[in-house]
This record gives sequence, C-alpha cells and structure tokens, in this order.
Amino acid sequence: MKLILCKNCQDVVRLMQDEERFCKCGKCSGKYTDDLNAWYKGGEFVVPLGFANGSLLKALHNQPKEGWGENFSAFVISESCDTFKNCSLTKNQSKHENI
Ligand SMILES: [Zn+2]
Repeated sequence: MKLILCKNCQDVVRLMQDEERFCKCGKCSGKYTDDLNAWYKGGEFVVPLGFANGSLLKALHNQPKEGWGENFSAFVISESCDTFKNCSLTKNQSKHENI
C-alpha cells in the first residue's frame, strides 16, 4: 500500500486509483495509475511511504482486546522507485513527465 507523508502539515494520505488525493494543506498529492504503479508530487515536502500489506493484514487479524497491538511494517520508499514516481515540478520537468 502506497502513501505519502507531508512534512508541512504532517498528514499521511493513502493513495487511490480513482482520484488524486491531497494532504490537508494541499502541498502534496498522488494517485495510483493501476494496481501497482503510482505517482506523487509535493517537492521538498512530500515523502513516499509504504505499508507492507501482509504484515498489516496479520496485525489487523490479531488485534487484541486490550494492551498493545501487533507491529506491522511501514517504510520510507527510496527517492528512485520504479513503481512510485516523484512527479514534483522542477525547473526542467513537466507536470507528469514520469508517468
Ligand atoms: Zn500538507
């Protein structure tokens, strides 16, 4: 599962395929283009995140009645990722150059 974190408003947004989704302050956004691939933008503010789906599902399934829940894996995605492209505007890039 791909998400973005905005360093300006600290919002975390899960991306979806049917609409571009924005953080609370509007500086960062992103969208899935199919089941696997997605793009995001937001310049210096945006950080791409991933949840390891299997570990999240396992933790959800094992939700305790009380006490601490099970950890699941979330990670910061590298700046260069074949399935999650940074489309932030820069001097020499068009808006959707990397889609
Ligand atoms: Zn924001």
